[in-house]
Amino acid sequence: MTSTLLVGGGLAAQRCVETLRREGDDSRITLVCDEPQRPYDRPPLSKEALSEPEVPDTSLRPEEWYEEHEVNLILGDPATDLETGSGTVWLASGAQHSADRILLSTGSGAKMIPGFDAFTNSHVLRSYADARLLRDALTPGSKLAIIGAGFIGLEVAATARKLGVEVTIIEAEDIPLRGLLGQELGTWLAEWHRSEGVDLRCGTGVAGLVGDRTAEALVLSDGTELPLDHFLVAVGAAPNTQWLASSGLNIENGVKCTSTGQTEAAGIWAAGDMACHWDERLGRHHRTEHWEAAAAEGRAAARDMLGLDPKPGPMSSFWSDMYGTRIQHLGHSAETDRLEVDGDPTTLDFQGVWFNGEMPTAAIAVGRPRAIPALRKLFATPENITTPKNEV
Ligand SMILES: Cc1cc2nc3c(=O)[nH]c(=O)nc-3n(C[C@H](O)[C@H](O)[C@H](O)COP(=O)(O)OP(=O)(O)OC[C@H]3O[C@@H](n4cnc5c(N)ncnc54)[C@H](O)[C@@H]3O)c2cc1C
Repeated sequence: MTSTLLVGGGLAAQRCVETLRREGDDSRITLVCDEPQRPYDRPPLSKEALSEPEVPDTSLRPEEWYEEHEVNLILGDPATDLETGSGTVWLASGAQHSADRILLSTGSGAKMIPGFDAFTNSHVLRSYADARLLRDALTPGSKLAIIGAGFIGLEVAATARKLGVEVTIIEAEDIPLRGLLGQELGTWLAEWHRSEGVDLRCGTGVAGLVGDRTAEALVLSDGTELPLDHFLVAVGAAPNTQWLASSGLNIENGVKCTSTGQTEAAGIWAAGDMACHWDERLGRHHRTEHWEAAAAEGRAAARDMLGLDPKPGPMSSFWSDMYGTRIQHLGHSAETDRLEVDGDPTTLDFQGVWFNGEMPTAAIAVGRPRAIPALRKLFATPENITTPKNEV
């Protein structure tokens, strides 16, 4: 009987398993994860789940689903090594599993500033356990310092403000998310957060922390000391590939793979935040950290394992929710020379399209979910797809 092993039990692995079973695959499936929970959804953890009295269960499927679909879950046991030739994975417990088909889907982990995790009131936000600790810290009137004005930092700021927390964000760049939004919309985003009572300080670094086991203040690069009760380090994420260091796989900002997730090792695929896929639209490898990509890559790997036609790769897209308003983004706005906006950003009801010459490269809709299908069509034309090369 064919065997399938999924390493890392997040969204990509879950969508891969679902697709395999839906397509009639009857292989012996084992899913291994370092976390104690079965696969769960992460986006709510920086949004509505964080404002509930208790962080709710965001499991993608109930426990019975795994029994019904004959999926053997091994939880709380991290993978430590992979031998590609024999298709063998070692776990921290000492167990080893060999399989005909392996999906690498260990996601990404929050980056930490060296030494900052030594404090009892230090937080990151990646897992359910992180969300529970952070939720307990968000008491009305308390002071939260957030280092980094990326999506996680900004979403937590919005949720924390709703809970009556005093929030300061420190951002090294002069405006948040400049690479994604550019000057005009980055400035709009900053002003929006300030109007909601966030003390957003851009263009300043972090020099250290005052305190012994518990940090009492954050010291900025200009010497300013910001008193705090808790702090969140939200300076980005890195692919969880350390455990593959001796595997011999091509790893460069994630595990390099084709557009359907095949690595250069036979029988081994990669998907989700830890994978660096060949992107036909960009004509180069590209790693994303977005929900829709992880889900699509998990499905694509399953179809490829079964020898089914891959469905067309999705347009890069993600969403975010802040202060009850949805932000949706399509494409890659880094490669752009102008932005056309329809609507007034200050009313939180607008859309924008970035162009490179005459070619639309990216789009955003704020408070306009119904605009998305039409915006998607802008990118559907074949001339917006570059070289069809498909490399590992
Ligand atoms: C708080 C938060 C909010 C987000 N909000 C949004 C959003 O609004 N919109 C959006 O598009 N995206 C959002 N994302 C990103 C999105 O959730 C991720 O892109 C998606 O979860 C990636 O799926 P994955 O399966 O690759 O990885 P993950 O979901 O991270 O799952 C990987 C799993 O593998 C485990 N693992 C790691 N190392 C090992 C090992 N050695 N052995 C075994 N298991 C291991 C991890 O612990 C984890 O359980 C958010 C992410 C977070 C953390």
